[in-house]
Amino acid sequence: MLLEIEKLERLYEEKFQEFLSRNQISSIQVSFYPYSQIKHTLRIRSGKVIVRIANSFQNAPIEVQKALASILIAKLLKKPVSSDEKKLYLNFVASLKKTIPQSGRRNLKPAKGKFYDLEEIFDRLNEKYFQNTLSKPILGWSTRKTSRKLGRYDFVNKTLIVNSALDDSKVPDYVVEMIVYHEMLHMKHSFRKGKNGKKCFHTAAFREEEKKFEHFEKAENWLLNNFI
Ligand SMILES: [Zn+2]
Repeated sequence: MLLEIEKLERLYEEKFQEFLSRNQISSIQVSFYPYSQIKHTLRIRSGKVIVRIANSFQNAPIEVQKALASILIAKLLKKPVSSDEKKLYLNFVASLKKTIPQSGRRNLKPAKGKFYDLEEIFDRLNEKYFQNTLSKPILGWSTRKTSRKLGRYDFVNKTLIVNSALDDSKVPDYVVEMIVYHEMLHMKHSFRKGKNGKKCFHTAAFREEEKKFEHFEKAENWLLNNFI
């Protein structure tokens, strides 16, 4: 179901009123924008607020839109964001990843990247978090950097793929590790069928174990700041 633009504009108006007095804002314009990545912008030009939300968020539930509004406004005003809202936002981003068409095994670059070696990371994490119980999948970097997916585990081909945009000196090691760790949890937990017959990958047990990653919050925050 699409949220009407007017409804979204009212939502931003309400959120702004929590921080600013009414006369600081003259109008609010919200639109969806075909950004190639998950990216949103919020600008203020002489009292006019212009919000552009990535197209992929057109079907986002109202709670996610509210969380995004809080995140964008907090970022602009340099205020903290509640962890509940961060979680709502990031969980929705994770759910989007599943709907993106899958690329085959041929679209894979070797595990040893320019900056990070996925085999090394896998072995380290396997020992630290899984008592070496996971058998090594095929590991590799995606060939395209533009994909919105940070990582993916392909159950059919037993292949763990990480977005090659993360093979970069600007990306902290704990971020790459968290993506690999997340995909390793998919290997461990597999999935269960939900009531609606849909596969459920991120079960409560999965989410609980995900938080055991040593730098979970730090990595999540880094992703949050570099996703928007
Ligand atoms: Zn996942």
